[in-house]
Amino acid sequence: MFEALVAQPPDALLGLIKAYNSDSRAKKVDLGVGVYRDADGNTPVLKAVKAAETILLETQDSKKYLGPEGDIGFTTRLEPIVFGARHRLAGRLAALQTPGGTGALRLGAELLHAARPGTKVHLGAPTWPNHAPIFRAAGLAIETHPFADLATQAVDFDGVRAGLARAAPGDVVLLHGCCHNPTGIDFSRTQWEEIAATLAARKLVPFIDLAYQGLGDGLEEDAWATRLVLDAVDEALVAYSCDKNFGLYRDRVGALTVIARDAREAATTATNLAALARVAWSMPPDHGAAAVRIVLERPDLVAMWRAELDVMRGRINANRAALADADPGLAFIRDQRGLFSNLAMTKAQSQALSGRHAIYCTGSGRINVAGMQPGDAGAIVAALRAEGC
Ligand code: PLP
Repeated sequence: MFEALVAQPPDALLGLIKAYNSDSRAKKVDLGVGVYRDADGNTPVLKAVKAAETILLETQDSKKYLGPEGDIGFTTRLEPIVFGARHRLAGRLAALQTPGGTGALRLGAELLHAARPGTKVHLGAPTWPNHAPIFRAAGLAIETHPFADLATQAVDFDGVRAGLARAAPGDVVLLHGCCHNPTGIDFSRTQWEEIAATLAARKLVPFIDLAYQGLGDGLEEDAWATRLVLDAVDEALVAYSCDKNFGLYRDRVGALTVIARDAREAATTATNLAALARVAWSMPPDHGAAAVRIVLERPDLVAMWRAELDVMRGRINANRAALADADPGLAFIRDQRGLFSNLAMTKAQSQALSGRHAIYCTGSGRINVAGMQPGDAGAIVAALRAEGC
């Protein structure tokens, strides 16, 4: 049975973690793995989440099955955070809890395939390396257009325009709602406005991936673009992750929301989402989403979570400023948002950074700015200069 299988390359990030852990040099910097780190290099459980978990431990009196929709209180409480307190999408939403943002993307892809087999998804390059494999695994077709130019660290808007012009009505366009992974480069407001108008005029379906809300400019600010696009179009999908902004990574907390044209189509879509979830994972893991629900139910925990999010965002943006201050050639890092920036470098240069300087980033030059600790900026800049990056 298994003879025909071809060995798959190991996950590049796992190799990076291994190399970092086995590096015995006293001073080393991990800019590779995509998790938030505090000034001591830790990724702690948020206090608001701990408090919610304590409440959950004390009050949960059953672990009986919930259903393929997961925790409906979780998706309901998330709705105003993502779509706004007074959004006008009521009645057109079909939402379901998923195992992380990855599960939301995959379920959305399965839904698109069920609705129209072979649907084409347009991706800007570069993008999160998992996007294309997820969509392909569900049977969708991929078409790529340029998104950003790493040499100039700017959006290639002509490339984006050309990509959208090639798209046919009914095609899907994947958009990062904020904090683009891997570049940290987000569209400007005028660019978002043009994209929203083009999507609407050409009947393209946005699939918004919102995995870092609150880690860019703030909870409301980071949802601005998503809301603008959803105001403009009839149909859309939003894949949401709570794994970064609630620090819940391994607990796998996400949601997929489909915006349909009307209540009837939303209701039919909801039954399809439930059926697709049923044959994928039956129902999502409960714990993390239950903890998020408890946070969002209680004003004291919401305030605690928001304050912790402010600290995380403040540290990320202070690290960005420190790198920009240390080298005028890295000034662009200050204006980028989220955990990542993508420096233009070769694989050999990234290997030299780890081999000679104990500074670890991905082979494609993506750095996690939250991996820096206070005082690291000088060493990072010196290593980048030494290696000609
Ligand atoms: N989308 C983007 C852009 C991401 O960067 C990530 C995680 O790195 C995800 C989705 C998936 O997040 P999760 O860990 O919740 O599956």
